[in-house]
Amino acid sequence: MFSFRLRLGIILVVFFACVIGSELALAHGGGDPADERPIWTWTPEQIIEEVTRVRAGEDLLPKSWPDNKRVAVSFSFDVDTEPVWMGFQEQSSPSYMSRGEYGARRGMPRVMNLLDKHSIPASFFIPAMTMELHPQIIPMIQKNPRNEIGFHSYVHENPMRLTPSEERNIYAQAMSIFVKHVGKKPTGFRSAAWDLNKSTVAIVKEMGFIYESSMMADDNPYALISEGEDTGLIELPVEWILDDWPLFQISWPSKHVALRNAEDVYSIWKDEFDVAYDEGGMYILTMHPQVIGHRYRIAMLDKLITYMKSKPGVWFATHEEIAFYVKEQAGR
Ligand SMILES: [Zn+2]
Repeated sequence: MFSFRLRLGIILVVFFACVIGSELALAHGGGDPADERPIWTWTPEQIIEEVTRVRAGEDLLPKSWPDNKRVAVSFSFDVDTEPVWMGFQEQSSPSYMSRGEYGARRGMPRVMNLLDKHSIPASFFIPAMTMELHPQIIPMIQKNPRNEIGFHSYVHENPMRLTPSEERNIYAQAMSIFVKHVGKKPTGFRSAAWDLNKSTVAIVKEMGFIYESSMMADDNPYALISEGEDTGLIELPVEWILDDWPLFQISWPSKHVALRNAEDVYSIWKDEFDVAYDEGGMYILTMHPQVIGHRYRIAMLDKLITYMKSKPGVWFATHEEIAFYVKEQAGR
């Protein structure tokens, strides 16, 4: 015979297992039992529903850029420092931490000097914990009032592993740290995984962001659709080929070794720019001070900016400036 206490214990264990199980299902597949079955067993309707959860809507490329400029160029620097190793790569040994520290200590001053030299602004997406670890980087960025600081998680946690309530609570905590350091709320949201789970878009809307910058359905700005509805958010899309991490980074645990020659990367980034220029499009380049801030790479970025500036009609803007311009031009 089970004692009353033992029976009560079993009931409680089963109850909490169900609660945790459903939270995990929400984190990994939205809690729909159909998600657990192999994809080839899904109905066309289920597949379409899954594909169209987050989608590109209206093309928001304006007819012209301000002052009839030909192309909009915007540099993002994701100042991830240590949190990207702790939160995303799940590595927190001193060697990984020192690579993040390099970004704040050596990479950031090099990046800021280069932007100053060319008199161009940039957008900085910063996890809240980077602000706590390296508060000195905020006044460095704010020295140029055109520079923008955008939202980029609490500790670079992967949103695809969060339940909706975890994500909502973590972002609220991150936002209060953000405002404490920056002095105002951000207008731009960038996911720490360049990915959005089933609740992220709703949370981003609730938090009052104007634009999102993690999706890849176009080269140019577009309206972000979620569950078939226009969210009102402007998407400023990114791309892995226009990101220094996959091209230059090395990470033993993820078997990612990509120590590319600067000339290779220069050629990809320049060719992308040339087509954006011809098409009158938008060009967003995402970099990390701990990656691009190394000596031979910052020299390459200097060469790229010098090349861009040699062409007439390049609008160097922050993501926020582009988002506001696009919003106004589209009458949204
Ligand atoms: Zn990041």
